[in-house]
Amino acid sequence: MKSEWKQSLKDSVVSNDELARLFGVDQDILAPVAARYPMRITRHYLGLIGGVGDPIWRQCVPDPMELQDGVSLPDPLNEGGLSPVPGLIHRYPDRVVWLVSNSCAVYCRFCMRKRQVGCCGIEGTLAEQSAPLDYIRDTGTIRDVILSGGDPLLLDDDRLDDILASLRAIPHVEIIRIGTRVPVTLPERITPKLCKLLQRYHPIYVNTHFNHPRELTPQSRLACAMLADAGIPLGNQTVLMEGVNDDPAVMADLFRGLLAMRVRPYYLHQMDLVRGTRHFRTTVERGLEIMASLRGFVSGMAVPYYVVDLPEGKGKVPLLPGYERGADGAFRLTTYSGEVVAYREL
Ligand SMILES: *Cc1c(COP(=O)(O)O)cnc(C)c1O
Ligand code: SF4
Repeated sequence: MKSEWKQSLKDSVVSNDELARLFGVDQDILAPVAARYPMRITRHYLGLIGGVGDPIWRQCVPDPMELQDGVSLPDPLNEGGLSPVPGLIHRYPDRVVWLVSNSCAVYCRFCMRKRQVGCCGIEGTLAEQSAPLDYIRDTGTIRDVILSGGDPLLLDDDRLDDILASLRAIPHVEIIRIGTRVPVTLPERITPKLCKLLQRYHPIYVNTHFNHPRELTPQSRLACAMLADAGIPLGNQTVLMEGVNDDPAVMADLFRGLLAMRVRPYYLHQMDLVRGTRHFRTTVERGLEIMASLRGFVSGMAVPYYVVDLPEGKGKVPLLPGYERGADGAFRLTTYSGEVVAYREL
């Protein structure tokens, strides 16, 4: 019997005519975009769309602007150059990203791995992926392995089990992180069986990816609760996007809502300079304004790091609002209520 989540995935919207029929948009406009960057929208995620151009729509429906981005680069973070073996990114000394899947339940229009997700297979059996595993085994400085892709949780349970078992057999691998958007886009993927499987390989961390409070549905809430009940600490990465969540009230709702679901906001990402995503990009100033609007007004635990992932793979750098050092050596610090206070070290 096919599992429920696989059936859901099969029932996703992948054709432009269906979208066009549902929302009365011109499919001739969408088709060339989807031909370049694939489309898939689960029924669950589709159901969150309130109308053409709304924050959910913008995240999942192909937009002609994706093909009109002449300035951005396919791989600005130089992930290609930081791959000692295909399917593995080694940028920081003690941790690696292992791309174990190249499919996702929903193909996000803003994806930073747009160049390779949904196409050009890094799929295959684990046997074909022995190079990343060998590299991790042979590199004693690696303490932390981040499974990413694509979405690792689109792999079958058996396949995931193999991967986790192989990693756990390596003594220097201390923690395993899984980056996944299925709690948002395909919450039925989080089954009791999956939770039981993951639980056998602790310490496992899951980082998920909610971008808008409307994504905090009862189904997603349940998925996160199941993972949390399996003892998995949950974090969240949000991408700052124009017309989606570049608004202090929206962000406050999102981060508060996540914390109430036992999901700790971890990173707020400034959009990477990835080709096909320029229409989503906001200014860094805007990001700093949003960060300033949160501090003091929502629980500190609900406030993520706002990070810029520097081009050429130089890494993520957190940015903070309201911080300056004057010529007199004193720090000029802006409080949450907007007062500027000189702070001098004694
Ligand atoms: C973001 C990232 C990591 C993980 O960074 P943390 O700050 O530890 O969460 C590791 N490798 C690469 C290539 C990354 O982009
Ligand atoms: S789930 Fe993640 S990897 Fe997949 S398309 Fe969305 S942003 Fe990209």
